[in-house]
Amino acid sequence: MIIFKKATALQDYLQKHIITKSSIGFIPTMGALHRGHISLLKKSKQIADKTLCSIFVNPSQFNNPDDFKKYPVKTEQDIFLLEKTGCDVLFLPDIKEIYPHGFNKESFNLGNLENILEGKFRPDHFQGVGMVVKNLIEIINPTYLLAGQKDYQQCLVLQRILQFINSGTELIICPTVRENDGLAMSSRNLRLNEKQRALAPEIYHTLSYIKQHIKPGSLKHLKDTGINLLTKKGFRVDYVEIAGTMDLQTVDVWDGSDPVIILAAAYINDIRLIDNLKS
Ligand code: AMP
Repeated sequence: MIIFKKATALQDYLQKHIITKSSIGFIPTMGALHRGHISLLKKSKQIADKTLCSIFVNPSQFNNPDDFKKYPVKTEQDIFLLEKTGCDVLFLPDIKEIYPHGFNKESFNLGNLENILEGKFRPDHFQGVGMVVKNLIEIINPTYLLAGQKDYQQCLVLQRILQFINSGTELIICPTVRENDGLAMSSRNLRLNEKQRALAPEIYHTLSYIKQHIKPGSLKHLKDTGINLLTKKGFRVDYVEIAGTMDLQTVDVWDGSDPVIILAAAYINDIRLIDNLKS
């Protein structure tokens, strides 16, 4: 695996060594890699000639400075894992490489995605995601951008950003990888102590309960049950919501046929976890 810290050096390499016809699968990450990230790399290796991963903890997408400070950094371990998985190129930029002129001033029209669910509870988060992804895509110009369903709303945002910058890059959404007890893998899980880690799968259990019990008609009772289940267990709940898979518009009364997704975001102490399940 070749590691680049400079965008210009990476671009030179891509121009010289990746023959025009070879395809590139790109997996942007914030590091502290786990099996979820590795599943995206494996998928890329199946569909693309070369697999490129980036590790960059993007300050502009953290609406909470404390969350940014506490975000786990495991670069050496990450490099080992990437080598083992057969990643071809790692881009490990510092902040000046990604934001040479400071945080970009432009703002992306993300429509309602910016005001609902994650957009509502994490103001400016998706503008930050947009900035970093636009800059990375413009440096790398990959054939495929691989992302995890775990961050479902982010996937819809990525699709919009790709359209916005008129990129030919195709978004590939990969399934959520879970621990044996159902907890969605996340770098933030590293911050959970033993007791919190034991509690964390309740988010998945709650989503599964809703998935089992959802039926056509009003969904209010089911959503309230989800919030109550988590609150009783000691979570501070941002939302438990059922929404359309295409645009994440809230569904209050379900016709039983439109595809919906059940989403939750909740805190254990100051650690915020998210998850979702398609019904
Ligand atoms: P992050 O490092 O958290 O920014 O995530 C980088 C990419 O990995 C994003 O596309 C995430 O959606 C994806 N990802 C994170 N956790 C998982 C998981 N448990 N399963 C599948 N993909 C994941």
